[in-house]
Amino acid sequence: MTVTQVEGIRRDKRARPCGFSLTELMAVVAILGLLAAIALPRTGSVRVNGNRAACHVNRSEIELQAMLWRRATGVWPVASLADVGADAAYFPEGVPVCPVDGSVYVLDASGEVVGHSH
Ligand SMILES: [Zn+2]
Repeated sequence: MTVTQVEGIRRDKRARPCGFSLTELMAVVAILGLLAAIALPRTGSVRVNGNRAACHVNRSEIELQAMLWRRATGVWPVASLADVGADAAYFPEGVPVCPVDGSVYVLDASGEVVGHSH
């Protein structure tokens, strides 16, 4: 490599502008778009998992209130929860519905919620 070539390389480095080129910026935007495409479906699954957890909490709450109802009255609530659900002492905001599928909760003969194993 000659002296002229070395000085040419140095001159090229000095002449290079600071900052990012359009190509570099486009590459960053493309990478961010790819990351967003990966992350957005995950937020959807977080919402589904949250609804499943809320359903589990609802089941536990209903079964607990059913036990309290049985302790106070001596019998389990009716399967449709019409009796215990109408009593504001047990469900002040009414009997919840499943946040996953919007269905109502039903009790079996032993005071446990039927289904909702999602
Ligand atoms: Zn459910």
